[in-house]
Amino acid sequence: MTTQTIRNSTAVWRAADTRHHLHPFTDFQGLAAEGGSRIITKAEGVWLEDSEGARILDGMSGLWCVNVGYGRERLAKAAYEQMLALPYYNTFFKTATPPSIELSEKLAALTPEGLSRVFYASSGSEANDTIARMVRRYWQLAGQPARRNIISRHNGYHGSTMAAASLGGMQPMHELDGLPLPGFHHVRQPYWFGEGGDMSPADFGIAAAKAIEDKILELGPETVAAFIGEPIQGAGGVIIPPESYWPEVQRICKAHDILLIADEVICGFGRTGHWFGSNLYDIKPDMMTLAKGITSGYLPLSAVMVGDRVADLLWSEGGEFAHGFTYSGHPVACAVALENIAIIEEEKLVERVHDDTGPYLQQQLASLAEHPLVGEVRGVGFIGAIELVTDKASRGRFNPKGRAGTLCRDHCVKIGVVSRAVGDTMVVAPPLTLTREEADELVKRLRLALDGAAADLN
Ligand code: PLP
Repeated sequence: MTTQTIRNSTAVWRAADTRHHLHPFTDFQGLAAEGGSRIITKAEGVWLEDSEGARILDGMSGLWCVNVGYGRERLAKAAYEQMLALPYYNTFFKTATPPSIELSEKLAALTPEGLSRVFYASSGSEANDTIARMVRRYWQLAGQPARRNIISRHNGYHGSTMAAASLGGMQPMHELDGLPLPGFHHVRQPYWFGEGGDMSPADFGIAAAKAIEDKILELGPETVAAFIGEPIQGAGGVIIPPESYWPEVQRICKAHDILLIADEVICGFGRTGHWFGSNLYDIKPDMMTLAKGITSGYLPLSAVMVGDRVADLLWSEGGEFAHGFTYSGHPVACAVALENIAIIEEEKLVERVHDDTGPYLQQQLASLAEHPLVGEVRGVGFIGAIELVTDKASRGRFNPKGRAGTLCRDHCVKIGVVSRAVGDTMVVAPPLTLTREEADELVKRLRLALDGAAADLN
């Protein structure tokens, strides 16, 4: 295609997109007023290309999911071959397919001990809906049907279906249509930089965990089914909990006999330099949500890992588990997941992020802390956050919230780097294949974006 035809296509695509396509989490009219979407046409490694030929460094792995990077022929081949052999068959009526069986075995081996059964869906939201239903069913079978309440955190993200959005603690999502549903409760998040005040991070971690216990006591322990949390909150702004937090959460769940669920949709499959965020924090969950990195986003797939405590009772007493999706265990998605996991293993991506490129990226990101606009840089492995402040010493916040983040994000777009603004927190989560040179480039571009935002604010 010539440049001219590409330009024409861009204008035509934009117009059609604006007329017909309602984008997720988007102000429809606002997007149209800005001239419409940026149209991404190709990608290779960590680089995206748009319909105008601009190259963009993807510091977000798409939506935190393209862990093995773009352009993997092996994944395309795995999908192609499975489509030819068997493009679809369901797993409802006493049938299974080789990829769904082999992936189940593989996931049981990879995830922490005791999580040996898998229930499939297509998105993280569906997986979390499945969990909400499964834990309530578990307690019915365990003879404690009053245990229906599920506790999670303000500013946690667990998806967009009615139950997943209720599990999540995103205020704008709740305000959209009057959520949460009954039985979903939220407590404070372990966000020391934003909410820790004068407390030490260690004391604040304990206090944030104690908020779960306070909620359990308020509701009555005999009514609480489960607590769910992301090991590191991703969409909420990469909230890295103080070291004291997860041990205390686990103690509290044990003390009140409450199921503990780790939502590993972002943290899973190497993001933190460990296979799962639960490995990083030594969390021993009863259930786990997997999605995104399970296929590196090449096809939609999610999984609920079910621990023996829950699975054994569903198995021995439950009868039919009346829940499932047409695409549960989709053979093509499972085949791609198997190949994706093979790539992660063969290329030692988790080890690389743990020992080499992860510490290097964190070290480079940390150099941004000296920037006048930056109050804190935090991160682990290939996930990180840069807090923008009006004043470093007092951790002063912008008014209105998001003013600096939006400016910085707009500069990122112009400079050709993807970083997301969560209010005034810039977040990054690049593909696990990012090299040291690419990490340098990522940080160089982020610094330029910070300079641009600082100049705009002056
Ligand atoms: N859980 C977490 C931690 C997530 O970050 C997300 C999506 O970003 C979800 C669940 C929902 O996944 P999906 O968008 O595939 O429904």
